[in-house]
Amino acid sequence: MTVQEAVNKLDELELKEFALGHAMGILSYDGATAAPKKSYIPRGKTMGCLAGEAYKLTTDKSAVAILDTLRSHADELDDNTIRRLELREKNLKEMRAVPIEQYVEYTELMNEADSAWHEAKEKSDYAIFEPYLRRVIDFTKLFAEKVNPDIAPYDYCLDKYEEGLTMQKAEAFFSALRERIVPLIARVGAAEAPDESVAKVLFPIEKQRALSDILMDKLGLPRDRCAIGETEHPFTTNFTPDDVRITTHYHEKAFLSSMYSVIHEGGHALYELGVDPKFSFTCLSGGVTMGIHESQSRFFENIVGRSRGFIDNLYPDLVRLCPEIGKYSAQDIYRAANKAQPSLIRTEADEVTYPLHIMVRYEMEKKMINGEVNTAELPEMWNAYYKEYLGVTVPNDREGILQDSHWSGAGIGYFPSYALGSAYGAQYLAKMREEMDFDAVVASGDLAPIRAWLGEKIWQYGSSKSPEWILKNALGAPFDPGYYLDYLENKMKDVYGI
Ligand code: ZN
Repeated sequence: MTVQEAVNKLDELELKEFALGHAMGILSYDGATAAPKKSYIPRGKTMGCLAGEAYKLTTDKSAVAILDTLRSHADELDDNTIRRLELREKNLKEMRAVPIEQYVEYTELMNEADSAWHEAKEKSDYAIFEPYLRRVIDFTKLFAEKVNPDIAPYDYCLDKYEEGLTMQKAEAFFSALRERIVPLIARVGAAEAPDESVAKVLFPIEKQRALSDILMDKLGLPRDRCAIGETEHPFTTNFTPDDVRITTHYHEKAFLSSMYSVIHEGGHALYELGVDPKFSFTCLSGGVTMGIHESQSRFFENIVGRSRGFIDNLYPDLVRLCPEIGKYSAQDIYRAANKAQPSLIRTEADEVTYPLHIMVRYEMEKKMINGEVNTAELPEMWNAYYKEYLGVTVPNDREGILQDSHWSGAGIGYFPSYALGSAYGAQYLAKMREEMDFDAVVASGDLAPIRAWLGEKIWQYGSSKSPEWILKNALGAPFDPGYYLDYLENKMKDVYGI
């Protein structure tokens, strides 16, 4: 096989893999949106079959031969082909770690664990989910041991979601955060809390749907390539830059909840929509890691969406859709949207206390994977950490250990990427300020210069570069969590006058 033949075969193979992934993704999306509850049974079978086919395709002799040919001519390959080769080699190692039967079992477990988690959460009964979580942890440990026995199993988990992340790096990051966030929370707690009654006005759901349309326009999400649906837990799913879907949830008396879900998921969607289409149908399509992804979503949600300029710009639309808001000023909304207070639910947490929610999960995951705790003890441990880190008492499993879906999808190692992403975003902001009048751009309502900046430095590359490369390219300097801490302190100074 010549190099050119190998590249052509690789294109063909990746198109087939895309097709299977596309079908599975649509099934998942359907499961989360329109499908009836019991549909998880047939969906699990179909997903198992499709995952089996994908496994065969990726691990087949002919696929391995393509990689061997490319590897033996590595010095003739361009950067993108080298990256494809490296990503595939890593993935192949993972897939070959367990036999196909176990791989299919794992895929089916994901589907069943998701249903069990939904039921457990609905009934606020951790016992329903526990046996599934135990199997998820066992599988995670098995993968870690088989794929990379030379590193700590939890390092394997972290690297899976943020290429290059280790416990050592994560702990240095978290301790830098702790040092300045803990005293900041104490200062905020001693200051007068903003009045948040504006956040609780009755905002009819039909009008909130109209608000979502306005937000999507303001973010610059093209509706012919990006759809919006409704699910209990908002998420983004993507196939190519021509098909990205976001979801949100509506609560009549909590319009900010949906508003910031749309902006958050919209940030994920903008990233996916901005990937160079030349990478579509290859393994270089899509955002590179969860850390970089969350740096986009949390940038739009917090740095853009919770800024005074953005709220000022949106204010006339809010009043038009919900006249009761007219009793309040834009400044009232700004302060309510930035209220910082330790709380129970991560996704509803403010920017300042948010990283503490992540640290709880980080500590727990580390213990779960190291076998330092058994699954039956996890709720108690969760509640104890919430008391210790956030000073709040967890009243039940639903608002405690069952609040997030990640563990049901084997997303162990995922959470730190949220905190890292937030911190990356603050450093993008500092860099953008050198090049544009950021506040004026946000207040103008036309975010095009911000999209252009992120698109050029980050989005276009998809997965063709490592997260380290992308950060260096965007920031022109090493990552430094100090920017994030400065940003949080300045924000609180502005909101609380401290
Ligand atoms: Zn997100």
